[in-house]
Amino acid sequence: MLIELPENCVVVLIGASGSGKSTFASRHFSPSEILSSDSVREMITDEPLPRDGDSHYLTFKLLRELLDARLKNLKFTVVDATNTCARDRAPYVEIARNNDFYSIAVVLDPGLERTKAQNAQRKGRPPTPEAVVERHRARIARSLETLKSEGFARVLVLESPEEIDGTRIERIPPWSDLSEDTGPFDVIGDVHGCYRELLALLGTLGYEVDPENHRAFHPEGRKAVFLGNFAGLGPEVADVIKLVKNMVGDKNAHSVPGNHEERLRKLLNKANGSADPVLLEETRLANETQEFRDSVLGFLENLISHYILDRGRLVVAHAGLPKRFQGRVSSRVRDFCLYGEDMEDKKLSRTNFDRKWVDGYKRAPKVVYGHYASDVPLEANNTVCVDTGCVYGGSLSCYRHPEGKIVSVPAEKAYAKKS
Ligand code: GDP
Ligand code: MG
Repeated sequence: MLIELPENCVVVLIGASGSGKSTFASRHFSPSEILSSDSVREMITDEPLPRDGDSHYLTFKLLRELLDARLKNLKFTVVDATNTCARDRAPYVEIARNNDFYSIAVVLDPGLERTKAQNAQRKGRPPTPEAVVERHRARIARSLETLKSEGFARVLVLESPEEIDGTRIERIPPWSDLSEDTGPFDVIGDVHGCYRELLALLGTLGYEVDPENHRAFHPEGRKAVFLGNFAGLGPEVADVIKLVKNMVGDKNAHSVPGNHEERLRKLLNKANGSADPVLLEETRLANETQEFRDSVLGFLENLISHYILDRGRLVVAHAGLPKRFQGRVSSRVRDFCLYGEDMEDKKLSRTNFDRKWVDGYKRAPKVVYGHYASDVPLEANNTVCVDTGCVYGGSLSCYRHPEGKIVSVPAEKAYAKKS
């Protein structure tokens, strides 16, 4: 069995004493990635086995603190303890969630006889009493039903020595991690269906543009990055979506979603299940084929909330993203990317003063974002907002990375009123 583990996850091993957890962990993970309750206990008591309630309490308290510290440093971590009941596992799920990490449960059960035999023959420490091993197994058997509802994103059960032995583990980067892609990039702010202005901007930037077929590429291999809100509000939403989608498909661009793509995604989902013409009109894709609308829905559903590019030097997200959320995946991170800090606080105002994260943003990758329309691009503390309100009659702007230059083209007219 092949198990794919993203770097932003916590693996919680679950197994009776002697089931082979520590052996499994050392076979698949590096020593610093493993937080083993036995090792932590030994660190503070010089003994591998629990001596009294106090040392037990201190062992697990320290283990939780170590886990939290590792996740704060964005480090993949494996918790190696028996973890037989929900009460033992709950703190790890919570610490993972607070750090926007996934938790994954891996249950090891080579069978009762094998577990007892392995427990009896272990070196370097006395065996756990057999009655305790049996109790562990009974508790774990009862847990299998509840693991999902405890908040584990995935539950993997390895039920035989063969399955445990035959497991291969592949580590995969978080989906947001495109740090291998070094660009160079042209990061484009909120287009909102302003196709003519988008074509003009791409032309100015040196892209070869085919307006009828909705394609564009840069002869020097530059990539466009769309910051979301390319849909909604403006005059030629379908044309803009076609170009963005084709450029992404041709690997000439990346795109993150904005609040308007999220809205369109929901609308398309609803329109699919109803014959309501008003709903269809609202998508601004009523004149397109159902096949095209389906392909747009698929495209929107696959957009990743933010990207880390160019060896971690550049981060792009529609409404910006503080350091603590970069490279993490959770609904909280996605909400921030789509709606900004104001939504996190459940306030709906969208003034510049809501960008508190910008004030404290230091010693971290350049963040380029849109969402907050203003007359000129706003640069502050290694962040820049390039939404210059094209659809409201402003201009369409782009940040060139690594050059650090802004290029803008004026809107031909105002297509929408600022709310
Ligand atoms: P834990 O209590 O779940 O951490 O179990 P350990 O990993 O410490 O394993 C207990 C004993 O079983 C050790 O002596 C291991 O060497 C042995 N053991 C663990 N896994 C395997 C395995 O897959 N095959 C064999 N032959 N022995 C194993
Ligand atoms: Mg162990």
